Amino acid sequence: MNYLPTIGLEIHAELKTKSKMFCASPNISLEQEPNVHVCPVCMGHPGTLPVANAVAIQKVLSVGLALGCAVAPYSKFDRKSYFYPDLPKGYQISQYDMPLTSKGILEIQTPEHGAKKIRITRIHLEEDTGKLIHLFKTEGSSGPERPEGANYSLVDFNRAGVPLMELVTEPDITSGPEARVFAQELQLILRYLDASDADMEKGQMRIEANVSVRPEGTETLGTKVEVKNLNSFRSVERAIAYEIARQSTLLQAGGKVIQETRGWNDSKGETFSQREKEEAFEYRYFPEPDLLPMEFSGTDIEQIRARLPELPQQRRERLFREYELTTKEVEVLVSNKHVGEFFEDTVSELGPRLQESQLKKLIRLSVNYLCSDLLGLLAGTPIKEEGKFKVSPENFAELMVLIHEQKISSPAAKATLREMVATGADPDHIIEEKGYAQLFDESTIEEAARRVITEHPQAVEDFKKGKGASLQFLVGKLMGATKGAANPELAREILLKLLSEE
Ligand code: ADP
Ligand code: MG
Repeated sequence: MNYLPTIGLEIHAELKTKSKMFCASPNISLEQEPNVHVCPVCMGHPGTLPVANAVAIQKVLSVGLALGCAVAPYSKFDRKSYFYPDLPKGYQISQYDMPLTSKGILEIQTPEHGAKKIRITRIHLEEDTGKLIHLFKTEGSSGPERPEGANYSLVDFNRAGVPLMELVTEPDITSGPEARVFAQELQLILRYLDASDADMEKGQMRIEANVSVRPEGTETLGTKVEVKNLNSFRSVERAIAYEIARQSTLLQAGGKVIQETRGWNDSKGETFSQREKEEAFEYRYFPEPDLLPMEFSGTDIEQIRARLPELPQQRRERLFREYELTTKEVEVLVSNKHVGEFFEDTVSELGPRLQESQLKKLIRLSVNYLCSDLLGLLAGTPIKEEGKFKVSPENFAELMVLIHEQKISSPAAKATLREMVATGADPDHIIEEKGYAQLFDESTIEEAARRVITEHPQAVEDFKKGKGASLQFLVGKLMGATKGAANPELAREILLKLLSEE
């Protein structure tokens, strides 16, 4: 029997705001020092009152609009009651039956069947909980002091009350890779909107996958299992694949899937049962009496819509239209918003002084240097982090012009770029200081070539015996002897001439 998988995702993202969701404590949940960004409101002291963060509300609405959702004309907050030591008030302020925005679509490019529309059920706003740190006696002596031999947990409330959006999809996803693509595209959109940094490793974006299977040929969806603590895109994909296999095998053997919450053990590559599913009524949801309901007018909504930036898919399409780029290059430029912006800033620095045909060549050169050399040099350092990335689009464009005009050779250009990344100096200065200006002077190159030949008799010998690689070796040495400044074609020509005279 063949089983068809069905998947729906629930994705939480911490919103990027200055302060927390219902108080003025700073929204800095990754502070090293625990329990410093707290106040009586987010600590749930009696008699305190919450005030809703307008920026957080606007950010959720912008995500909704970017995904084609409808904004609720009337929305409210609700209390979701449960006890857990990371929840100071004994309830979480969330939204139950009137989410801020609902019924949208995100079109993704699935690895298996091309474009596919995934329906968004709803996006609502709530507050994050604190963070528990569990200490086990097997962990040895590191970490805070504790009574000899005891297991216990510490709590950090810096994260308590941080604005959190929750997005729920319809069960439209049918594989692990598809779920991964959906989550990655959503992450990109959250970043383009500046709604969230959505870094999964830092817990700023958290994914839960609901998975069920049903026998092929039947319509009714099977019983679903909810898989929690998926901390990377890879674990999303793996956990879903694991669940599909587990449930199919279970049904095949005549067993039944029980509705439950399961955890994911990344090192074992397995899900494990955590608890049987609680029902909504157990949370005793009721309207939050300390916060006013929200009403949004058409004008409010249009104002937010008007401020939406270019979204990833729009940028992909525009880059394809405006430049001659490969799919892979477009993906590099789109998947990091700041790399894409750096590229286009470089193009506008190049633009004004050039003719169309020249500009095309320079753009090609820029794409090559950006996608390989520059990103390689950065090795993951984010381009936007101020002070860390020192190359300005103006200087980068300048370097491209120098290469194009053959003022420097390509090895010298690479060395110059390395220096630019390290110091932020402009290419002219570096080239002058290091003597990188391209050498066309034959007598200078010839002098260096003679030295190279004397210093490497073995290679000369090998070359004469017909070993082609030796010539490449000698050209390399000659380039090195001129600090990469020699014009490479000229260097090769002169070497060949001298070698034939030997
Ligand atoms: P619950 O009431 O248990 O929270 P919901 O209907 O709110 O369930 O759905 C939660 C998530 O589970 C949604 O993303 C939804 O698309 C998904 N889902 C619902 N039914 C199934 C199913 N049979 N198989 C897989 N996913 C499902
Ligand atoms: Mg639900």
